Amino acid sequence: MFEKALPLLESYFGYQSFRKGQQQAIQSVLSGKNTICVMPTGGGKSICYQIPALIFPGTTIVISPLISLMKDQVDSLIQIGIPATYINSTLSYQETMERIHDAKQGRYKLLYIAPERLESYEFIEDLKWMDIPLVAVDEAHCISQWGHDFRPSYRHIQKMIQSLPQNPIVMALTATATPNVREDICSLLNIDMRNSVITGFERENLFFSVIKGQDRFRYLLDYVKKNNKESGIIYAATRKNVDILYERLKKENINVARYHAGMGDAERAQEQEKFLKDQASVMVATSAFGMGIDKSNIRYCIHLQLPKNMESYYQEAGRAGRDGLKSECIVLYSPQDVHIQRFLIEQSCDISRANQELKKLQSMVDYCHTESCLHEFILHYFGETETEPCGRCGNCTDTRTSINVTKEAQMVLSCIIRMGQRYGKSFTAQVLTGSKNKKVVELGFDKLSTYGIMRDKRAKEVSDLIDFFISQELIAVEHGTFPTLYVSPKGKEVLLGNQQVFRKETAQVNQVSIKDPLFEELRVVRKRIADTEKVPPFVIFS
Ligand code: ADP
Ligand code: MG
Ligand code: ZN
Repeated sequence: MFEKALPLLESYFGYQSFRKGQQQAIQSVLSGKNTICVMPTGGGKSICYQIPALIFPGTTIVISPLISLMKDQVDSLIQIGIPATYINSTLSYQETMERIHDAKQGRYKLLYIAPERLESYEFIEDLKWMDIPLVAVDEAHCISQWGHDFRPSYRHIQKMIQSLPQNPIVMALTATATPNVREDICSLLNIDMRNSVITGFERENLFFSVIKGQDRFRYLLDYVKKNNKESGIIYAATRKNVDILYERLKKENINVARYHAGMGDAERAQEQEKFLKDQASVMVATSAFGMGIDKSNIRYCIHLQLPKNMESYYQEAGRAGRDGLKSECIVLYSPQDVHIQRFLIEQSCDISRANQELKKLQSMVDYCHTESCLHEFILHYFGETETEPCGRCGNCTDTRTSINVTKEAQMVLSCIIRMGQRYGKSFTAQVLTGSKNKKVVELGFDKLSTYGIMRDKRAKEVSDLIDFFISQELIAVEHGTFPTLYVSPKGKEVLLGNQQVFRKETAQVNQVSIKDPLFEELRVVRKRIADTEKVPPFVIFS
């Protein structure tokens, strides 16, 4: 059957060859095996079920959570001559009935349905009357509690498949490659893990970087202006942030669109359209925007705030550069975002799920603090083991020199041990910098030998150092009622002097602490310079 695949790819879709993984996925399905297909966003998953749908007799069912995109997807299939339709909540009762009727007559090669539809007993009964060779579950991570986008209605898919007398082949498709999500999908949809088609997650045209310690709005504005001819997405954490940023960019005469769940359907569709048709160059949005969006020329994707986990981050960032041209993916990191994300997680789920989510958030924070290759960090997170530094990300191209911070690490680590490995980051930083905070004194921590051992630094600097040591896995974080620090096996090696720690020189390390007499001196002189704006600072201090 497979010999039909390539001619179909050419005649319907106009492509000369299959992309990585497509052929293997199609072959697997054609040979009757339930298959999971894991490919990055933009990798070309749709073709993996559309071609088998053309080859098999009957109607392939496609389950997709993307109601807003179903119409577009179906329209473009019809346009290239493939009979397809969809059934979701946007249709009237009459339309739904007509389409079900036509589907039973075998008029479609593909029938797209929203998962909510499967809650209807009548609908399942209707399906039993159709010729269904294949059920494709798109965005299959939605079935897993481990995934970043769990949809309870996805859990009806298993029941539906089991109740179908046609015994269809099942194909799951997702861009989420974490091993536990993959396992979950396979066990829930009865797919043998050996029938996995996973293509490399390396996207060679993506340039990742993390920007820290800068005025984010300033940075964004400069960036967007510098790239004003290019198409880009800016993700913000909340609707309010989106609205504020939208207004600010508009004031700067930037052609901007916005998208979040608080807007009306019509307005959202209109804004999306503006962006897709290049009438707006920048899309400012919450993570509600973008699933399934197929716009190839997105040159950058900036996260104004920390994303909630690596899965969402990679999915969102991966929308840049689908045409294979160089594109940038930037996170503008500020430590206070961690508290916001933490709060959002704790508000929205029960304890055991919250702990899972907090662990994932921790990896996202580690991504922002690591000094090794960012691309490798991502690949490792998604379970790829044989990787090499990319040579192009913000960290690989960072030319600052590394300084030895082993001594600092030992100070922090031994203090954590002295404090009984039961406290969080900021409290530990307070003890290390010799704070007279009531709680420090009450607990007698001002008597510890490590009390004030880093008093030449500000608590914020120490806190930042601790984040870095966490990202280096010297310190582990336990997520209970509040996050507590403990020393990892690798941290013990550092304490024992068996391992050295290096860190890129940061601006903060060189900064003068408030307690330093030079601080006041600098303040006064700098003010004078600002007043006259004549004498460059290095002349005075050299
Ligand atoms: P995914 O669902 O994996 O995010 P899509 O199925 O939407 O990706 O495909 C992304 C883009 O890649 C689409 O524009 C599609 O037409 C294109 N594409 C898919 N397969 C091929 C191929 N073999 N050759 C060229 N382009 C392809
Ligand atoms: Mg897709
Ligand atoms: Zn790199």
